[in-house]
Amino acid sequence: MTSPRPYLLPASWLLLSLLAGGVLLLAGVSQQRSQFQQNSSIAHRLLSQKMVQHEAVLATLALQQRPPPAAELLAGLRPAMPQLLALGLLRDGRWLGSGSTPPPLAATLLRARQRQRIQTQSADAAQYWLVAPSGWSLLLDSRRLLAPGEWPAGLQRVALQLPGGTSTLLNQPMPAWGWPMALDKPLPTSAQPFTFHSRQRYGIAQWPWLSWLATSTVLALLLAWLHSRRLARQQAQREREQARLAAVSRLSTLGEMAAGMAHELNQPLTAILANLRACQRLLDDDDERDTVRQALASSAAQAKRAGDIIARLRALVTQQAPRPLAGIDSAALLASVQDLRQTELAAQGIRLHCLDASLGQRPLADGVALEQIVHNLLQNAVDALAGQPGSIDIRADIDAGRYRLQVRDSGPGIAEPDLPQLFQPFFSTKPGGMGLGLSLCETLAHSLHGRLTAANLPAGGACFTLSLPLADKETP
Ligand code: ADP
Repeated sequence: MTSPRPYLLPASWLLLSLLAGGVLLLAGVSQQRSQFQQNSSIAHRLLSQKMVQHEAVLATLALQQRPPPAAELLAGLRPAMPQLLALGLLRDGRWLGSGSTPPPLAATLLRARQRQRIQTQSADAAQYWLVAPSGWSLLLDSRRLLAPGEWPAGLQRVALQLPGGTSTLLNQPMPAWGWPMALDKPLPTSAQPFTFHSRQRYGIAQWPWLSWLATSTVLALLLAWLHSRRLARQQAQREREQARLAAVSRLSTLGEMAAGMAHELNQPLTAILANLRACQRLLDDDDERDTVRQALASSAAQAKRAGDIIARLRALVTQQAPRPLAGIDSAALLASVQDLRQTELAAQGIRLHCLDASLGQRPLADGVALEQIVHNLLQNAVDALAGQPGSIDIRADIDAGRYRLQVRDSGPGIAEPDLPQLFQPFFSTKPGGMGLGLSLCETLAHSLHGRLTAANLPAGGACFTLSLPLADKETP
């Protein structure tokens, strides 16, 4: 049997796969982010050290009484400071420094002296001057602050916000699409507090596709395994149910068959007896000839039913091929039930009301089996009233595309603890009851691909519901 909702399994797999993908991606992002933070912090620290180095050089130069020529100083410092492009001393408007033309630093020097601290002046977007109050000045190229080999591996783009604009220090290829990461933080020096910008993208190509694929495959296998286990359990349950049905439906011992027959035949035989007694009484009265004729016809019908019941029980026991199912005329069936029992029940103060609202739709069933079920349920309802006046309603209609027949009574209903065992063979609460009626009805209902259920009515009394498939228009 296939699952009633075939999309459920792939949909669950898809949902779980997406969930697993999300979790894996978030884990990847978190790992990449911490790597990025770590790399960016290292670059930030290295650049901060360079800034401190610049200020230390200016402080050392300020202490020189007889400084060597600038060109010599530059040559000495350049191996350790490749970013240093020029240096010199601006004194009394004269430039004592490397390079021939004096740089336009007078205003910046004035500011440095007023504030007594190093000042910056941009040369272009990537280069800037550092001017100390002593007049010593350095021209620095930000792009050479770190050599290519000094950058932490994995960093993609680093820039510094200089007085002249943004200078890109590192520009590694960055994926076009991906999870963006950023760090903006000023360098912690008082004279060169340039903002450090680091950017990176966790590219789609780096996302954990392989782990996701593996997880999805494992999930698919797991779900398939769980599904097959569920199917196997359902199959085992079905087999158990079939075995139980087979056991109940074949009353294998003579004793059980006799008990079943006695139970089933009791009702038509009682009716025949009542009819014959009435005939006996009325035989000599010419005016009652019609009543006698009717009673004899009813007896004949009951005798025929008894014969059918015996044939059916024999078929159950000997496992003859089941009778073919046909479309049953529900209205005619209910009319015949009403006909057979109404007068007798009315004499006991029981109002029997049969209503067919199936609008011409026919249940697919075996007529004798269906009749047997209805008569059994009706007799149980009569028994439940226990000689008290009351009412019994039999109603047939269509519910959710199936034929539904309900037998309701105004009796005391079914005790809650009895409900689960009602359909078990030999369960009875009646003195002298055999407890075979409902079990037989359920077996018959199953053989008709139907269901029989019991419930209590909110206003009191019991309601037995038989549901059967509908016959096609073409079914005979
Ligand atoms: P029996 O009629 O021989 O007891 P059944 O299998 O027909 O066997 O019924 C089993 C039991 O179900 C009954 O003994 C009774 O307790 C309960 N039962 C069946 N129909 C009704 C009903 N309409 N109202 C209350 N109890 C019922």
